Amino acid sequence: MTVELICVGTELLLGNIVNTNAAFIAEKCAMLGLSMYYQSVVGDNQKRLEELIRTAKKRSDIIILSGGLGPTQDDLTKETAAKVMGRTLVEDERAHREIKEFMAKRSHAITENNWKQALVPEGCKVLYNPNGTAPGIIMEDGQTRIILLPGPPNELVPMFEEQVYPYLKESQPEVICSKMVKLCGIGESSAETKILDLIEKQTNPTVAPYAKTGEVHLRITAKAATEEEAYQMIAPVEDELQERFGDLIYTDDPRVSLEMAIYDLLKAKGLTVTTAESCTGGLLAGQLINVPGISEYLKEGYVTYSNEAKEKLLGVPADILRQYGAVSSQTAEAMAAGGANAANADLCIAVTGIAGPDGGSKEKPVGLVYMSCYCKGRWYTQEHRYTGSRSKIREYSVASALTLLRKTILAMDKPADFNNG
Ligand code: ATP
Repeated sequence: MTVELICVGTELLLGNIVNTNAAFIAEKCAMLGLSMYYQSVVGDNQKRLEELIRTAKKRSDIIILSGGLGPTQDDLTKETAAKVMGRTLVEDERAHREIKEFMAKRSHAITENNWKQALVPEGCKVLYNPNGTAPGIIMEDGQTRIILLPGPPNELVPMFEEQVYPYLKESQPEVICSKMVKLCGIGESSAETKILDLIEKQTNPTVAPYAKTGEVHLRITAKAATEEEAYQMIAPVEDELQERFGDLIYTDDPRVSLEMAIYDLLKAKGLTVTTAESCTGGLLAGQLINVPGISEYLKEGYVTYSNEAKEKLLGVPADILRQYGAVSSQTAEAMAAGGANAANADLCIAVTGIAGPDGGSKEKPVGLVYMSCYCKGRWYTQEHRYTGSRSKIREYSVASALTLLRKTILAMDKPADFNNG
């Protein structure tokens, strides 16, 4: 079955609001296995809206509209959709009652135009709305189903999840399920190269890579009669990815971020960490602090942007700074060892680099970043060369530093892998 989405609202056309309803509905329809070939945005203009609904009716089985169900003159979606379906509007008793109760609860005065929202196309299914005054509507004729939803996301989202999703699921013989496998420490093209054969021969399930800052996510998607069957089809593909990427996979849980995976490792191994940051200026500590409960494992977060701070707080020898410069592998290593020592932590991850836009030279250009993770007398040290704006360079540095921290923790169990450099 095909589904088409029409979002109504001049605000959307002017860019005053972001069309989050489209992203939400599209994702849900994909989960239901419905094929969406068209999405449109149209202003509050009856003629253009009518044309669009008529066009959609010719090419799609299901048309979902969001917005324009309100009480004012320019809210025209219901009237227009009813006209296309050849229905007249009649008052719905329950909707009338609920509008009255909704307004009374909030001590809002009811104006005459509020009653417009109690009118529904004859013969439709009404989707009652406990979060607002505009009910949603489902109209069916032999050929098309039209679903009208209120624009405010706090009304549309629960209405879709509780009433529309089950309705669509009933008539949809197939489901689409997907699983996300998240990797760090590998670039998108290398990741894709490793699974090119899987990507090329795929039909169902499919595997698709998505690049995120410093990470690659691989989405495995399967279409089947039931969710259970779809996940059974996904399982061997996930095993294959595990086989090929090993430790580079940090989770297969969509809710788990890299910093959460690190938190789990620190907790499981009972390790403490500290951060010593120059160019990232606290962003790295901030990222770790996104995880509730990290206070037990994050001992300190040093922001040592100046040479003076590096010496004073981390005990970086002045000689090292003079001889190699603040942006050097030697300084990164001294910061890491000094941070672990000062905070009495098992690990310290240090970052120093040139975030730009100024301060670069031929030998040390903007985007050059050194990072070192110290653990029990040994270091993992890396040099990175990033391009982009100051904020992008800092963001990439944080992602790489988290990856390096994770790599160091994992390497502790495999002494042979734990080397300097
Ligand atoms: P109301 O009963 O509040 O008038 P409505 O169904 O008429 O609702 P609109 O008037 O089109 O909806 O939009 C109301 C508000 O809902 C907008 O100001 C905006 O904040 C939000 N909204 C509308 N459409 C979208 C959308 N596609 N994505 C995100 N938010 C939206």
